[in-house]
Amino acid sequence: MKQVTVISGKGGAGKTTVTAMFATLANAVVADCDVDAPNLHILLKPEIVETIPFEGMKKAKIIEEKCSQCGLCEDLCRFDAIKDFKIDEVRCEGCGFCYRACPEKAIEMVAEKRGEIYITKTKFGDFVYALLYPGEENSGKLVNEVRNIAKKIAEENGIDLLILDGAAGIGCPVIASLAGASIALVVAEPTLSGLNDMVRVIELARHFKIEPLVAINKFDLNLDVTAKIEEFCESNNIEIVGRIPFDEDIPKQIAQLKLPFKGKAGEEIVRIWKNLEEGWL
Ligand code: SF4
Ligand code: SF4
Repeated sequence: MKQVTVISGKGGAGKTTVTAMFATLANAVVADCDVDAPNLHILLKPEIVETIPFEGMKKAKIIEEKCSQCGLCEDLCRFDAIKDFKIDEVRCEGCGFCYRACPEKAIEMVAEKRGEIYITKTKFGDFVYALLYPGEENSGKLVNEVRNIAKKIAEENGIDLLILDGAAGIGCPVIASLAGASIALVVAEPTLSGLNDMVRVIELARHFKIEPLVAINKFDLNLDVTAKIEEFCESNNIEIVGRIPFDEDIPKQIAQLKLPFKGKAGEEIVRIWKNLEEGWL
């Protein structure tokens, strides 16, 4: 199964705009792996078919009635997560040491619901996304689950392509979104911070042996930095698959949830998709 993961060094570079357009063009299962800031579902207007609870890592919980208040668990916890016979959920790393050590068997390890995964249909095809409850972490695990569900749906329907809106940044969620990718399409904006973000995420993709390709979004807003991006790509043998012009109609079309996007930016994204299909998929 082929997998295109659309990434950028940080949020706001335009990767969701690009992914949403790809969703309208490809025969693929699409998933939003940007689980910390998901917004692809807003554009794709999905109809939810199934909701799956997402459970985070198991954390310790003291059963008060069984606890003899010996204090052993508090002494043993390396994360200082136990005080006065109560577990601090934020500090608990779920190592299970206290659970195994408690002489009274008064500690259980409990996984609580941390969010939800949605299997949906859109007018462009199957789409999977997830929402974490406010303040919840462990989004790398959630990204893995979203990706695996999307892959299973594709297999069941004889579709051999996944398109993922990857997580932003270079942390655990983006690494999880890159797993199994045939292509990492890096959407870069022509600002100096955008250039630095692009370099970092390209290094990450290459570290995992995934060939990065680059699309420059709003390339004409700063031709000097666009030239720097091009120089970097050329000297590092990275193909630039498209240069998306600034199009003031795109924010309006996004606000009106109009997909596929029309105009010069939309046309360039169509060309990028054809380029990927012909040369890379
Ligand atoms: S080790 Fe068990 S019995 Fe002792 S304080 Fe902790 S929970 Fe209570
Ligand atoms: S599971 Fe590990 S981190 Fe959590 S309270 Fe017990 S010993 Fe501490």
